[in-house]
Amino acid sequence: MTNWIKRKKTKPVQVGNVFVGGTNPISVQSMTNTNTCDVVSTVKQINDLKLAGADIVRVSVPGFDEAKAFKEIKKTVDIPLVADIHFDYKIALEVADSADCLRINPGNIGKENKIKEVINSAIDNGIPIRVGVNAGSLEKDLQKKYGEPNADALVESALRHVEILDKFNFENYKMSLKASNIEMTVDAYRKISKIIEQPLHLGITEAGSYRAGTVKSSIGVGILLSEGIGDTIRISLASDPIDEIKIGWDILKSLNIRSRGVKIIACPSCSRQNFNVIEVVNELEHRLENISDDIEVAIIGCYVNGPGESKAANIGLTGASPNNLLYIDGAPNKKISNENIVDELEEQIRLKISLNKTKSEKIILRS
Ligand code: SF4
Repeated sequence: MTNWIKRKKTKPVQVGNVFVGGTNPISVQSMTNTNTCDVVSTVKQINDLKLAGADIVRVSVPGFDEAKAFKEIKKTVDIPLVADIHFDYKIALEVADSADCLRINPGNIGKENKIKEVINSAIDNGIPIRVGVNAGSLEKDLQKKYGEPNADALVESALRHVEILDKFNFENYKMSLKASNIEMTVDAYRKISKIIEQPLHLGITEAGSYRAGTVKSSIGVGILLSEGIGDTIRISLASDPIDEIKIGWDILKSLNIRSRGVKIIACPSCSRQNFNVIEVVNELEHRLENISDDIEVAIIGCYVNGPGESKAANIGLTGASPNNLLYIDGAPNKKISNENIVDELEEQIRLKISLNKTKSEKIILRS
């Protein structure tokens, strides 16, 4: 991965076996949308999220029945779980021994003695807290002071929470300041990153539907990541949580921050194409969804850009008539007819991945 982005160094926190912040990889997370009390469905969704590439999963715990279910869920899955709790500090105390992180807002927990109990419980269990400030639930006095939610209001709200945590010498936290407006969110994160040393959890909240939300999140989260701000991301979409993980990874891959799975480079296609680029790309992406190994594949419709892109990728295909040309590791390898493109590419990609694995196993054995 390139280091064109100078990342701000934050104080890492540990969420289960995942370190967030410092020089640790930027983690991708999502949240379950099943009924937490439905343990079977929630476990299934958590496992599906893990398969899709989630590093951390958040689960909503609105009451004590859900707290009981959370404990059951935690016993069955092997991915760090964040318990999302609001208002009732006793729920936080109830799940602290099984959660890997508590998402609470000290400001909505109530009196200081209650906050102190939650902090002590986090300390006793060695888990961090994620403070999540949201433009939609800003304190009433801040709404009055600023007239409407803005970046300064978000930062002031965040600093109130920080002040409470500081009072109890609790530094083991990460912070998010989310709004559905990109400009406000970016501005707020830029400001808070200059003030605190703790890791930042990025996201554009209530970003919207799959398409609109993906665009908004990619711009907002992308701007911040490209400035070196952010240690973990959650893409909030009104869509399947699996999509949140896929988009999160695509953002990291696009910025060359982290890679996972097949990165397909494809031309948009035009009348020069020698095969149906869009159909091939979609089918291949679908077939290769279960691959988590890092590999770059170029699929280009003709010789205008084909050879250049194909040579730069691990595996490339350049459209030509009567047969297309397959490249492996930058060198022409063989000709492929249009009928065999997807099958042949899939075979070559899987073969390359297994050869890479064998090679690295040999290196490990030798060292
Ligand atoms: S690479 Fe060829 S087929 Fe693809 S968009 Fe460019 S000119 Fe068209």
